[in-house]
Amino acid sequence: MMLSGLAFPALNFKLSSDSDKTGFFKENPKNLPLREFDVVVAGGGTAGVVAAIAAARQGAKTALIEAKGYTGGTVVEGGTALHSFFNLWKAFPGVEKRQVVKGIAQEIIDRLLLVGGTTGHGDVTGKIDYDCVCTAIDTELYKLVVLEMLAEADVSIFTNTLVAGAVKKGRIIEGVITQSRMGREFFKGKCFIDCTAYGDLSAYAGAEYVELNDHPVCNSMGLGNVNIEKLYSYLVKNNALGDLAYGIRDGKQGQIIRMGSESGYTIRGKLPQEFVDGVVKLGSGLITTTVHDNYLMFIKVNYKLPVSPTNRDEVAKAELIIRQNQFKTLELFRKHLPGCENAFIARTSPSLNIRRGRTITCDYDITLADVIEAKHFDDDIMVYGFHDSAPKYQINNGGTYGVPFKALLVKGIENLLAAGMLITSDFQAHMSTRNTVCCMGQGQAAGTAAALCSIKNISTRDLPYKDLRNALLKTNVYLES
Ligand SMILES: Cc1cc2nc3c(=O)[nH]c(=O)nc-3n(C[C@H](O)[C@H](O)[C@H](O)COP(=O)(O)OP(=O)(O)OC[C@H]3O[C@@H](n4cnc5c(N)ncnc54)[C@H](O)[C@@H]3O)c2cc1C
Repeated sequence: MMLSGLAFPALNFKLSSDSDKTGFFKENPKNLPLREFDVVVAGGGTAGVVAAIAAARQGAKTALIEAKGYTGGTVVEGGTALHSFFNLWKAFPGVEKRQVVKGIAQEIIDRLLLVGGTTGHGDVTGKIDYDCVCTAIDTELYKLVVLEMLAEADVSIFTNTLVAGAVKKGRIIEGVITQSRMGREFFKGKCFIDCTAYGDLSAYAGAEYVELNDHPVCNSMGLGNVNIEKLYSYLVKNNALGDLAYGIRDGKQGQIIRMGSESGYTIRGKLPQEFVDGVVKLGSGLITTTVHDNYLMFIKVNYKLPVSPTNRDEVAKAELIIRQNQFKTLELFRKHLPGCENAFIARTSPSLNIRRGRTITCDYDITLADVIEAKHFDDDIMVYGFHDSAPKYQINNGGTYGVPFKALLVKGIENLLAAGMLITSDFQAHMSTRNTVCCMGQGQAAGTAAALCSIKNISTRDLPYKDLRNALLKTNVYLES
């Protein structure tokens, strides 16, 4: 009979519909092309770029796997300024102004300065005078400069490649599975660093984590065709100017490079009511950085998700809402802010940003007390001196606190380090450790340590601290309390 089961390859279809009933599809095992490295860095963002450069410079064969087509991460998508290389010297009388983060983070700024890609370190003044320094960046030059630095350091760069899984034996990661247009591949390594911000690699490797969902998601945009001086005069005239910083803009020193109005609530009565109500409702406002004439970066639009930002379906809804709200914000700016009459959206982040996704459990969890009491540890890998909520929270006497190596050791795994916004569960401690420059310092330490471990063939917990400290000091990391 024509319609026999043998005449049609119906069996396979039947099987897949059986598996559909369970809600799962069983994927067939497959041989994946294998690549071998000493150090594998997952995520080429703020911390990951620095980690990969540091590892490669120590002589480790290093792979950097980045989901997007460029490196830089939230630095180029969200903040657009690095915050803050210095201690809180203004908070306490008589405290000396000190640069407490140097190393590769400062090298990136030096390289950017050569090509007109940064404002340099601009002191923040104005009504909101707590903040020390704004180092705004040209986001496109940052992408180029860090890719060049990675290539010069001989890092194998795998952009447009997603870390999609991990293979573990006991407490050791053997390799990560990646997905790109070349299909799936297996990256074998001796030591791994999770710089994915969301902790994807740690989660795939079965590490403990929490999803606190305690920040809104956000997309930050750049507005072109803005008269910065006209906007500044308007804010001053209305007594609504918040923070202000001067630095290099389009090659000229002494230009406005950061400007903000006071926050939504305190500008009530100073700026038009419709503008104030509108930006408060849209989770937006006027805090901006710039490296170019006629251009404002960092106009944020926030949106609070009901669930953690690892929920793809809720994020998909938020991507649309935020983009609609960006254009509503633009309309408010054009209508109400002199200098912005003819503004247009010149750039947005390719996808929404967040201040934290998963927080990975490490051997040590930095607390707010550690930060504000200026605590140092016997395994400090960097020091930092800034808190996002200053002047409410300040590091004692304008000093520094230490980030210990044990805060980067992912609990229960012997060859995995974490660096960036994915460490530190305490909300207020995280308001310091997640700052860009702190993430970069963690990246330099994680990359250096991973390289030393892979070269010596030892676990991250067996690395003698003195070896790590010496290597960090030799590479210009500042470790004074
Ligand atoms: C809107 C906003 C404004 C901010 N403003 C400031 C500010 O003004 N000053 C300041 O100091 N800090 C600011 N922050 C905080 C700071 O920018 C971040 O905490 C910091 O940049 C995070 O660095 P990171 O390396 O942990 O993550 P990221 O820089 O986000 O890097 C993570 C990288 O991993 C990649 N990735 C993720 N998953 C995978 C995967 N599975 N496979 C491969 N690649 C993957 C991503 O594409 C990304 O490139 C802001 C944050 C936001 C969201």
